[in-house]
Amino acid sequence: MIAPDFAPAAPRALCTDCGLSRTADAKACGTACQFIKPDYPAMEASVHGRARDPARPDELHFGPFRQMLRARLAPPREGAQWTGIATRLGERLLETGAVDAVLTMAPDPADRWKPMPVLVTRAEDMARCRGMRMGYAPLLALLETAAAQGHRRLAVIGIPCQVYALRRIEARLGLERLYVIGTPCSDNTTTERFHQFLALLDADPDSITYLEFRADFHVELRFADGRHRLIPFLQLPISQLPPDFFPLTCRSCVDYTNVLADITVGYMGGQGEQWLLVRNARGEELLALLGDEIRLSAPGSAGKRAGPVKGFLANTERAAGGLPLRRMPDWLRPIVGWLMPRIGPRGLEFARARVEMKAVESIVHLRREQPRKLRNMVPAHVWALAAQYGLSPRPEERPPASAAPPSRRS
Ligand SMILES: Cc1cc2nc3c(=O)[nH]c(=O)nc-3n(C[C@H](O)[C@H](O)[C@H](O)COP(=O)(O)OP(=O)(O)OC[C@H]3O[C@@H](n4cnc5c(N)ncnc54)[C@H](O)[C@@H]3O)c2cc1C
Ligand code: SF4
Ligand code: SF4
Repeated sequence: MIAPDFAPAAPRALCTDCGLSRTADAKACGTACQFIKPDYPAMEASVHGRARDPARPDELHFGPFRQMLRARLAPPREGAQWTGIATRLGERLLETGAVDAVLTMAPDPADRWKPMPVLVTRAEDMARCRGMRMGYAPLLALLETAAAQGHRRLAVIGIPCQVYALRRIEARLGLERLYVIGTPCSDNTTTERFHQFLALLDADPDSITYLEFRADFHVELRFADGRHRLIPFLQLPISQLPPDFFPLTCRSCVDYTNVLADITVGYMGGQGEQWLLVRNARGEELLALLGDEIRLSAPGSAGKRAGPVKGFLANTERAAGGLPLRRMPDWLRPIVGWLMPRIGPRGLEFARARVEMKAVESIVHLRREQPRKLRNMVPAHVWALAAQYGLSPRPEERPPASAAPPSRRS
């Protein structure tokens, strides 16, 4: 496993330092960046053979897919964020010789919460990459490292803003094979800022080893001494965070579910288990690599999302660019916190709710902070999701026509 040093990032306006600006191809940012002028219909058609089809269940929300599943590895892997499907896929690709290298993140040795891009060539080293880090790191700069070492069959495990740029430059990388394992991503921030959040959650923040925003409306914390804590979302110390805690990139990105990955490995629609979107033939090949290590079932769905999404929109508008604080007396918070996992949206309905929240949030924040970017950054399918909450594009906000060929069934 190697963690090279890269050239410095080039200055860019909206940027999560996916790594492209640190390569010899830095000028490609202009056409490859999801924060400039993304064309999701064209890219979905180019990667999966067709753009999302709103007539197929859930594709408007989650992008094109062939199969959607609840899943868990049995047994779950030690140190994994959930059960370890993402890193196990990388491990299997290396074990079977399907790829020469996996490009992904490991924890920085000086800070376990800081992602550090690594090129992994031995299956046994994938275990060191398990778990979630908060922050950004220049994953795609590793493409040059891989090329310099002569690796032409690669897998990349990445978050949506990294995967969009990767797909945009994929054709000119001249690879023999590329597997893209994506995770959903939302509400990311810099590692430095994330440490401020940890310090508000516990008197001994350095002892926190795991954090997850679970689909049952709780944050789960695990500690070095084996302790474990669940905090209802409503009781998080959000009001004590600075209003710009989340950068505009992460408040306005439009691809929550990593629609250009071959397989998306998340948890949102999994009701306590993991959630897989197998998007194309290569994604099916990846899933098959797990054989009977993986337990699969149909995802469930319960509750109604419209109320929570409307409430979120109202709070986001009221927050005027800051964090969407809820207007609720303190005494009511534990009661609502107890009720939400029982009567709120669950399973796929939770995942739809989160995707719709992200859609309305992106529009509200861009309108306020970068109105001129709205036209090019917000695709038609995001407007379609937001329309039911009364958000429609003004004439100057209407997205340009996609370069996508007509959608065809694969
Ligand atoms: C900032 C962030 C926010 C996320 N938000 C959601 C969400 O809202 N809903 C949802 O369903 N899933 C979300 N995920 C994905 C989720 O946390 C799990 O990574 C995913 O469910 C896979 O679990 P696993 O046990 O299979 O992963 P593991 O086998 O433990 O592997 C995790 C993989 O993620 C990579 N990784 C970790 N941190 C980063 C990072 N900062 N940048 C890039 N790659 C990283 C690791 O290198 C590793 O390859 C988020 C991930 C990140 C990084
Ligand atoms: S493509 Fe990557 S490096 Fe370039 S501006 Fe976008 S996020 Fe930043
Ligand atoms: S929230 Fe969006 S912009 Fe921010 S790191 Fe995740 S995918 Fe990238």
